[in-house]
Amino acid sequence: MKWWFGIDLWKRVIVALVLGTIAGIALRSGMGPDAAAVFATDWVKWIGDLFLRLIRMLVVPLVFFTLVSGMIAMGDPKRLGSLGLRTIGLYFGTTAVAVTLGLIMATVFQPGASLSPEMFEGVDGSAMASIAEKADQAGGFVDRFLSIVPTNPFEALANGDILQVIFFAILFGVGIMLAGDLGKPVAAFFDGAAEVMMKVTEFVMETAPFGVFALMTWVLATQGLGILQSLGMLAIALYLACILHIIITYGGILKFVLRLPLMPFFRGVTDAQAVAYSTSSSSATLPVTIACAEENLGVDKSIAGSVLPLGATINMDGTAIYIGMVALFGAQALGVDVSLGQYVLVAVMATLVSIGAAGIPSAGLLLSGMALQQVGIPQETAYLVIGFILPFDRLLDMMRTLTNVTGDATVATAVAKWENEFDYDIYIARDPV
Ligand code: ASP
Repeated sequence: MKWWFGIDLWKRVIVALVLGTIAGIALRSGMGPDAAAVFATDWVKWIGDLFLRLIRMLVVPLVFFTLVSGMIAMGDPKRLGSLGLRTIGLYFGTTAVAVTLGLIMATVFQPGASLSPEMFEGVDGSAMASIAEKADQAGGFVDRFLSIVPTNPFEALANGDILQVIFFAILFGVGIMLAGDLGKPVAAFFDGAAEVMMKVTEFVMETAPFGVFALMTWVLATQGLGILQSLGMLAIALYLACILHIIITYGGILKFVLRLPLMPFFRGVTDAQAVAYSTSSSSATLPVTIACAEENLGVDKSIAGSVLPLGATINMDGTAIYIGMVALFGAQALGVDVSLGQYVLVAVMATLVSIGAAGIPSAGLLLSGMALQQVGIPQETAYLVIGFILPFDRLLDMMRTLTNVTGDATVATAVAKWENEFDYDIYIARDPV
């Protein structure tokens, strides 16, 4: 027992990830695909689901308490402006680079070139259409914008609507600051509650190795590596684009803009990356991302509590890379020529869709219909392409979610440094140079 807890959590989580992958592949080759899928779903998946429920349980209270307490710690509501601008600017900037990289990789690797239109024939397009429409319940731009303001903050908390929770928490924090002496006990309560939620997060994270192991075993036992047959090139292009984006874009920001050593960052976010990879949900990973940013990266809670929840909902670089790729994949498979103007339209659409996509499994793929239409693919055919990829999407989703979460953590670190809310000693503590 003692030696177990003595090992750094990120190391235990990585080992669990590798062992889970091996266990899943072993189950599948030992029992055959069907029996392995049934076994893993009946006997292993529940451990992963239990872990997912535990971390999702933390999201709303952790975000709310941390954000209110962070607002108070910021001291001056006027600082919100520069914080907001820097955050949104970086989120947009990194996503634009991501989309460009995705389009370049999809042009170089031609992931759809070996497919033909007939391959989409077996797909049930109408079923896909209804799933995709449900995923896009967000409505028009004005509706989406209005819906950030909750009509009832308790409903927002109960429904776990993160953007609404963020909006109310910011106003509530400002209210506490303006309330003077009477606000002080409320401030103390929120500071205490934020600290308590962080402790709850820490001990829930002790279950991460088991959850990650179970989720990986289940994914590999049910999906196998079948993706490599028809979508191998898409998988390779996506993984490579995400890895390059993480190393070049995020690494570049950290090293050349922020002048920070890279190793402490990548060690510090490993827990969040592993949880993102195994759950495929940046929203569910949010508590872990916040804990990593505060405790390993030295990001103050005023930044972690505001920048990261926003990032988990609107900043999805891996998803943006993927949506652009899916559009070109569809065009290549269907033999459609894509003009330069359409490339630009796809890039814009991929950025917008990635902002609107929810941080849940497969959200990015289900919404990629709009990008497919930009290259001239009719809606019904777009659904066939999406339906064709969907069964194999999980292994792709895992990588883009990991990228999404790493991007959020990078931006949080940058904003913290620029706002002087960054503790270098904490950042460097695990890796003194
Ligand atoms: N699963 C991704 C996330 O939660 C979204 C996507 O499907 O790309 O970040």
